[in-house]
Amino acid sequence: MTHRRPLIAGNWKMHQNVAATSALIEGLLAEDLGGEVDAVVCPPFTSLPHAAMLLTGSKIGLGAQNCHWENSGAFTGEIAPAMLVELGIQWVIVGHSERRTIFGESDITAARRAKAAQEAGLAVIYCVGETLEQRQAEKTFSILETQMAGVADLDPTKLVVAYEPVWAIGTGQTATADQAQEAHAFLRRRLEGFFSSDADALRILYGGSMKPGNAAELVGMPDVDGGLIGGASLDVGSFSAIIRASADCAVGD
Ligand code: PEP
Repeated sequence: MTHRRPLIAGNWKMHQNVAATSALIEGLLAEDLGGEVDAVVCPPFTSLPHAAMLLTGSKIGLGAQNCHWENSGAFTGEIAPAMLVELGIQWVIVGHSERRTIFGESDITAARRAKAAQEAGLAVIYCVGETLEQRQAEKTFSILETQMAGVADLDPTKLVVAYEPVWAIGTGQTATADQAQEAHAFLRRRLEGFFSSDADALRILYGGSMKPGNAAELVGMPDVDGGLIGGASLDVGSFSAIIRASADCAVGD
């Protein structure tokens, strides 16, 4: 089995203006973030240029929270992948459940965004996850299967999948380590169907109320390779504690 180095990504959502971005990044840069782990922060668009400047030469990666599928055009309010690349950004989150439920993102548009982002050179964090209603109706795996369809077309070397059960996002209710592992193992099998042995190296993150106290247990599961962190990524102490707890948790050689 391939050793998968854990990845902890912070989704700052619509928080942190430029001044707050400076404070948070400077705080993180002053922390010992552990060795065997990758860390990424995803501030709002307006903070990205400043974040890019602060993070130059650091081991913390930088991501955006969305991008469009065209590189220019009449798309009011959208940001092109090439515009992110121009700022030195390496990552982009695509298909987050808040984009899906509040802004009408579909599996089709999420897949288009992801494809264009990769073609521009960005690595994609592709989010999937079921609602509570879907879980209770025992539709979790069929929903994940549908949401994953667009992934087949992507480049596995620039892809991370994030399993984010919607009922666990921002609710304080975390999936159990077994629930997370079950979903991640299912996603790994889908990825194997798309990319055969390359799926083994692909990281699958858990997202949904991950905190310093539950990170090691979750990331210690065989198919959980890190986390996508919302609320807890806005605090230097809790985000850096999650990063440290995840270091060396990866399963494999
Ligand atoms: C998220 O929004 O991706 C997320 C996982 O949020 P939280 O950690 O706050 O549940």
